Amino acid sequence: MPTLDTAFYDVIIAGAGPVGLFLAGELRLAGVSVLMLEQAEHPNTALKSLPFGLRGLSVPTIESLDRRDLLDEIQERSPRRETPANAHWMQQKCAPGGHFAGIPFFCDQIDTAQWPYRLPGAVGSMAADMASIEAVLARRATRLGATIRRSCGFETFEESDAGVIVRAGGEMFAGRWLVGCDGGRSAVRKAAGVAFTGTNPEFTGYSAQVVLADPSVLTPGRHYTPAGMYNYAAPGTIAMVDFDGGVSHRIIPSRDHIEAVLRKVSSADVSIISLEIATTWTDRAYQATMYRRNRVLLAGDAAHVHSPLGGQGLNLGLGDAMNLGWKLAATIRGDAPDALLDTYASERQPVGAQILDWSRAQVALMRPSASSRALEAIVRDVIATGDGATYFAERVWGVGLRYDLGESHPLAGRSAPDFEFADGSRVNEHLRAGRGLLLDFSAGSVLQWLPGEWVDRIAYVSTTPHERMGIQAALIRPDGIIAWACEEAPSCAEVQEVMRRWFGAPENSA
Ligand SMILES: Cc1cc2nc3c(=O)[nH]c(=O)nc-3n(C[C@H](O)[C@H](O)[C@H](O)COP(=O)(O)OP(=O)(O)OC[C@H]3O[C@@H](n4cnc5c(N)ncnc54)[C@H](O)[C@@H]3O)c2cc1C
Repeated sequence: MPTLDTAFYDVIIAGAGPVGLFLAGELRLAGVSVLMLEQAEHPNTALKSLPFGLRGLSVPTIESLDRRDLLDEIQERSPRRETPANAHWMQQKCAPGGHFAGIPFFCDQIDTAQWPYRLPGAVGSMAADMASIEAVLARRATRLGATIRRSCGFETFEESDAGVIVRAGGEMFAGRWLVGCDGGRSAVRKAAGVAFTGTNPEFTGYSAQVVLADPSVLTPGRHYTPAGMYNYAAPGTIAMVDFDGGVSHRIIPSRDHIEAVLRKVSSADVSIISLEIATTWTDRAYQATMYRRNRVLLAGDAAHVHSPLGGQGLNLGLGDAMNLGWKLAATIRGDAPDALLDTYASERQPVGAQILDWSRAQVALMRPSASSRALEAIVRDVIATGDGATYFAERVWGVGLRYDLGESHPLAGRSAPDFEFADGSRVNEHLRAGRGLLLDFSAGSVLQWLPGEWVDRIAYVSTTPHERMGIQAALIRPDGIIAWACEEAPSCAEVQEVMRRWFGAPENSA
């Protein structure tokens, strides 16, 4: 008979990977109680450290981490790189800036003037290892009061109007909401009966660390071949793709197997003396048909999986968590407007679908066929132009992200520019408490008529920034997205209406 934990949690999160950990921190920041159930006994595996644990972080991720004061800590913990990545990300000069199916674009080709809703210099990318990212996020979640139970894998759940009863690790846990952050093979998603649909894999991808008998038989760099693709970094780091329909995924790759695939895709007479570590992945691209079903929500790989080409999965999942955290917390506190929680799925599902298509497009270019080589030649030509590099950077860096909030101002739905004020503070710093932020560049006039209850619920800044992109006032959600902006002195009714839409009526304030 399973034992029952007598505590009652606002949210039970299954999975303490990066997405679950970030979400736990967001929920605690907003004052709701959190229990995390994690299947693994220990957080670290060799695959989370370099070289395989390296993750490219997009602009929305970098901004989210900065908005929660986590960016510097992650940068400090991450192994130093040779590029100027150790400088503040906004000052970073990076070349190359990223790639599409391995075809690079370079920072000095990118025309940031084509992104008028971003402040100059506020773009770039950085990389960090999973072990460091998870360590920083776990420390934040526990420091804020989340409970993490390890060796406690989610098994099943029952749901009622009052909440959920979860069975995990042979124990029972009770809560109001259940969030599945338990990865691509999510047991929560399956138990909730949420369908997972998409396209089946065309290849098995491998990441391996090997000792080669003769490293000189392989040419360093990425190569498309008649049998697939391999990317070699001397002396023994290999990534390769074998278009086998994905049949070898989930096998435990042996030395013989890795050697055979490497010979096949490289056509080189290569011999592996020893295999140190290897993992497989595929281009399977599937997405949950629902991100919420009653009291169950899905985030991260539990909601969407795709190939790691272009490094988007972690960024997508952290974006889910940033979007979901404040909305779920407000719903639990009882001060959320009706249907606020539903905007989680309506905003994030299309973003996920777009990323899945981005990874599918890269697969189309990588196939070992004459038509894919022809496509590759065209993409190489386009990406080498200023407009081409700018387009690919916009997609890879996530700079073009905009939610359709039904607002006319071109900044609405976009990430808030990190305006810098005369006192040296920045917008991102004013978001660190996880509250909404009202920017009033009209000499403090909004505050005169803003009801006191509002002032308690959101942060308010009335100094004028050095650069203000023509706006007089803007309302920024806790996740850093501009909910509304205006270029003329705002009316009281206008501001109150938009605040009600996102933060509920002040009389509902907890
Ligand atoms: C080779 C490779 C390279 C990549 N490179 C990048 C990159 O550069 N940039 C990028 O953005 N993304 C990248 N990704 C993708 C990224 O790693 C994932 O999208 C990300 O880890 C997803 O985070 P998550 O928390 O949703 O899931 P996971 O990281 O899978 O974490 C899920 C957690 O849930 C736990 N769990 C599983 N089942 C249960 C259960 N039943 N109960 C409780 N806990 C459970 C697991 O132990 C794990 O801790 C890459 C992936 C691979 C494979």
